[in-house]
Amino acid sequence: MPPAAPHLELRHIHKTYNEQTRALAGVDLTIATGEIVSLLGPSGCGKSTLLRIIAGLEIPDQGEVLLDGVSLRGVPVHRRHFGLMFQDFALFPHLNVADNIAFGLRMAGQPDTAIRSRVAAMLGLVNLEGYGDRSIFELSGGERQRVALARSLAPEPALLMLDEPLGSLDRGLREELLEELRAILRTTGVTAVYVTHDQDEALALSDRIVIMRAGRIEQVGTPQTIYTHPANDFVARFLGFENLLPAQLRPPAAPGAGAVAQTPIGPFPLRGAPPAPGDYTLLIRPEAARLAVSGTDSRAHGWGFHPAPEPEAVLLRGEVVACTYRGREYRVQVRVPAPTQPVELRFDLPAFQRSAARQGLAANQLPAPGTPLDLLIYPGLATLLALDTPSKAAPDRQA
Ligand code: ADP
Repeated sequence: MPPAAPHLELRHIHKTYNEQTRALAGVDLTIATGEIVSLLGPSGCGKSTLLRIIAGLEIPDQGEVLLDGVSLRGVPVHRRHFGLMFQDFALFPHLNVADNIAFGLRMAGQPDTAIRSRVAAMLGLVNLEGYGDRSIFELSGGERQRVALARSLAPEPALLMLDEPLGSLDRGLREELLEELRAILRTTGVTAVYVTHDQDEALALSDRIVIMRAGRIEQVGTPQTIYTHPANDFVARFLGFENLLPAQLRPPAAPGAGAVAQTPIGPFPLRGAPPAPGDYTLLIRPEAARLAVSGTDSRAHGWGFHPAPEPEAVLLRGEVVACTYRGREYRVQVRVPAPTQPVELRFDLPAFQRSAARQGLAANQLPAPGTPLDLLIYPGLATLLALDTPSKAAPDRQA
């Protein structure tokens, strides 16, 4: 749902660097005051270009950026009153921590007493009390990032832009800082635009995520919406989903009959209101499977989907390609022979399931490749996705 009171508006933004490279091909986006919005997409999709256009570092060929309804056309970077935090954050090495944080305030000509109290407040905000006199060289990578954040927040920017700010840090530190960053952004109430190619970062941090591809927006939504209802199979693949099957939906055989998607490995019953008949991609989430309890007579069936003994599930008969124990779950890769080529699916099976042992699943005794495996698949955890339409997304950007 578009925010009620737009703070930042992007209208029909286009940007071409040269004849082959159309970086942005018509971007419209509205951001509300206090929102944390992530721009998420693969490398080269135009995220940084969009951020640079908002900042005033790049001029769009067409389109407009508006702040509180006022066009920023012709307003230079330093007059926009926006904060920037980039991956190569470049703190001033000759200044100590306090002077780095004070930099923007000094440039704005604020009096010393106001600067001192603001710097102290910022040090508290980023949990670096007592670090004011330290040299930049006495800080860890994470501490430097917190100083960079404090420096960009000190002048109370109308908008904070962050471009892969955690990109240079290792995974553990990144997760820790991510939580801290979200808490700090929330505390200050600053409106933030966060650029990343890391879906986990975007999911954890954002109020809304904008998925970009080849200079266009593919989907905008809350993290929950994007994750549970990816708009198409490009978005699903980008979020890391792997179980994507071509599927045809035909009109129901009889009025009131449930909708069934035809896949290369058999018919799959759908839950909820089905979309219009046509071609789709069926996404089956990795958590949609359980081991079938013994007693199914699936050995009599062929490979693929079959009606299950439990009415709310579908039986999937395949064979193990690989199985790994991960503590809380088994990750199992299943091959299902199909008429043209075999289909491979991956599922996370809860390790605590009682029937696990019965099917020979134990941490010290994993099924060998080739072992037949029966799974119950719960259609409530599967979704039909619109087909990916790359031609629509990038008609003229095949450089
Ligand atoms: P992202 O931030 O999503 O990785 P960018 O906005 O950096 O994407 O780049 C979008 C496209 O524009 C890419 O094809 C990139 O090569 C191109 N591009 C970016 N900056 C320039 C530039 N200064 N000159 C020419 N092409 C550029």
